Amino acid sequence: MEGGKMAKFKVNENVMARWPGSNLWFEASIVDFNDIEYQVMFKDDAKSEYVLKYRDVKSIEQFQRSRSKSRGRSSSRGRSTGRRKSPGRKSPARKSPGRPKQSREPVIEVKPVKKLEPEPVPVVVKPRTPSPKPAILLARADKLAPRTSTPTRQSARIASLAEKHDEVDGQVNNIKPEVKTVTENKVATQSVGSRLCGLTSCVGGCLKSAACAVIPSLATVKALIASLLILAMPFFLNELCTKRKCTILEFPTMPRKLEVYYDLRAVGIVIGFVLTQLLLCLIPIGRKVNLPNGAQIRCNGYISLLVSLAVVPLLMYLDYNVLIVYTLFRQIMATSIALGVVITVALYIRAKYIPDDAKNPAGNTGVFLADLFSGRETCPAIRSLDLKFCAFRIMATMWLMLNVIVVVKDLQIHLGQYSPTLLVACTLQIFYAVDLVWFEESLLTTFEYTKQGFGLFFSVGTFQSPFVLTIFTRIVLNHRTELEWYILSLVVALNLLGYTICRGSNSQKHAFRTNPSDPALAHLESLPTSAGTRLLVSGWWGVMRHPNYIGDLLVITSWALLCGFNYALPWVLLALDVLFMVARTYQVEEACRKKYGLAWNNYTDRVKYRLIPRVF
Ligand code: NDP
Repeated sequence: MEGGKMAKFKVNENVMARWPGSNLWFEASIVDFNDIEYQVMFKDDAKSEYVLKYRDVKSIEQFQRSRSKSRGRSSSRGRSTGRRKSPGRKSPARKSPGRPKQSREPVIEVKPVKKLEPEPVPVVVKPRTPSPKPAILLARADKLAPRTSTPTRQSARIASLAEKHDEVDGQVNNIKPEVKTVTENKVATQSVGSRLCGLTSCVGGCLKSAACAVIPSLATVKALIASLLILAMPFFLNELCTKRKCTILEFPTMPRKLEVYYDLRAVGIVIGFVLTQLLLCLIPIGRKVNLPNGAQIRCNGYISLLVSLAVVPLLMYLDYNVLIVYTLFRQIMATSIALGVVITVALYIRAKYIPDDAKNPAGNTGVFLADLFSGRETCPAIRSLDLKFCAFRIMATMWLMLNVIVVVKDLQIHLGQYSPTLLVACTLQIFYAVDLVWFEESLLTTFEYTKQGFGLFFSVGTFQSPFVLTIFTRIVLNHRTELEWYILSLVVALNLLGYTICRGSNSQKHAFRTNPSDPALAHLESLPTSAGTRLLVSGWWGVMRHPNYIGDLLVITSWALLCGFNYALPWVLLALDVLFMVARTYQVEEACRKKYGLAWNNYTDRVKYRLIPRVF
C-alpha cells in the first residue's frame, strides 16, 4: 500500500484507537494508512474497520503512559484498571461493562462531569457511527462490501458504550429524537446549522437571526450572480464578434429591441425541433440500456442524427429557406435559453412530488434560487423519457445542424466557393457532435449525468452551448481567415489527438463502470473502495486524474487555432473553458473524496496530477 510520509505505525501494528464519535479507546490494528489517516481494525468480533485521523490513533505504550499520568496512578495497575472509576473523580455510577470475549477491555476515559442537567444551548450529537463520508466505514478490501457500523452484539455494545459515554460528557442532552432519524447528510447540515444558532443564542438572541440569515442570503446572492452570468453570457459573447467587428476591447452594444430576441418563427423552429427530437427518443428501435435509477432507455441517437441531417437537404430541395436559422440566430438562441428556464422552473415545482432518493442532495437546501440553479432532481424522467439523456442529444444535434447551416451560408455568400479552413472547422465540430451522440451511452457514467442536478446551470448550459460553440466556426465564416494546408493538417492532428484521449478515457471508464470484470479490461489495475466499486489506477486514468478534460481542451484548442491569432475571442473562450475545467476537477474530486474516503486518497497518492503530469 502507499506509504504515508508521516505515519508512525506500520500495517498490522497494534495500537489504541478512538472509537469514532466517542472518547472511548480500544485496541486495534493498522490495516492501511496514508499521510493523514489510518484505516484501523478494532478487535471486536466483527473486526469493525474505520478510517481515523492520526490524532485518534496512539501507540499502546503512549496511551498507557498518558492515562497513568492523568489519573495519578501507578503503572502497576495494568490495563484492566481502565474499567474502574477513577477515585479522584465524581462521575456518576457506571456499571462495568461485560468483558469482551477475545479482546481487552475498552479503556474508558471519563472526563469530569460537572452536572447532567440539560444545557441551555441545544447541541446536536455527532452521528455515533461515523458518517460514511468522509470518516467512512470501510469494508474490508477483500470483500468489497460495506458493513453496518455495529454488526455484532459486541460492537453494538461498544457503540452503546460510546453513546453512554458521550451522554456522561453532557454532549447529547438536548437531542431532539427526530435528529437521529434523518439521513446522515441532514444530520451533518443540521448539526452545523444548529450549532451556529445555538452559539448565537448564547451570544445574544438578536444576533442569532442575523448569523443564521447570512448563510441563506449568501447562497442566494451566489446563485443570483451565477444565474445572471449563465443567462447573459451567450448573448454577450455573440455580440462581441459580429460580422462587422470582432474585438474584446470594446464593450458590445447590446440590441435593446424585443424583436431582436423574439420572433414567432424562431419559437416555432425551436419547439418543433425539440418535440421532434423527443419523439425520436421514444422510437422503439435501438439497444436498451439500464439507467442508474433502474429505468431503461434506448440508445438510438444515431436515428436522430440521420433524420436531422436528412432534413436540411430535404428542406433545401423543397425550396425552403434553411438559412432562416442563420438570420434568426439571436431569436433562436433566446428561445432555446428561455425554454431551458421554463423546463427548470417546471422541474423545480415537480420536485415537490418526487421520492427522496431521486432528489439532488445539493439542490434541496431550501434556498429557492440556489435550488433552482442546482436543480432539485438529478435525473428527471417522464415515464421512459429520461430528460437529461434527451437534453444531451438535443444539444448535440442542434450544434451539428447549426454547423451544417454555417457551411450552407458560406457557400451562399461566396457563391459556391468553399473555404477549406471553414470546411475543416465545421467538419471537426460536426465530428465531435456525432461522437457525442454515437457514444451517448457513456454519458450515463459521467459526473454530469450521475451527480449534477437538472437545474438552471445544467438546463440553460445545455441549451446555450450550441450557440457558444459555433462562435468558433462563425468567426471563420465571417472573417475568412484561410490557413495553409500544412497548418490545417497540424490542427487536425491536434484535434484527433485530443479526441483520442477524450474518447479513449471516457469509453474506458464507462466500460469499467458497466462491467469491471470484462476480460478486455483485465490488464487494467484498480483500487478497491468501500463503496463497492473500484477506481482505475492504470490506463488513461492512471496518467492523470481527468484525462478526458485534457482531451477536451486539446480539441477546443484546435478549434481556436482554426480562427487564427487575429481575434482574441476564441482564445478567451478557451481560457474560460480551462478555468471551468479546473474548477470542475475540484468539484468532481470533492464528490469522489466524500464517496470513497481513504481509497480516494490512495488514488490521489498514486495518480498525483489532475490534468498535466508534473504540472497540475
Ligand atoms: P467524468 O466523465 O470526468 O466522470 C467523473 C466520474 O468518473 C467521477 O465522479 C467518478 O464517478 C468516476 N471516476 C473518476 N475517477 C475514476 C477512476 N480513476 N476510475 C473509475 N472511475 C472514476 O464527468 P464529467 O461530467 O465531469 O465529464 C464528462 C465529459 O464532459 C468529459 O468528456 C468532459 O471532458 C466533458 N466536460 C466538458 C466540459 C467543457 O467545458 N468543455 C466541462 C465538463 C465536462 P463514480 O462515482 O462512478 O466513481
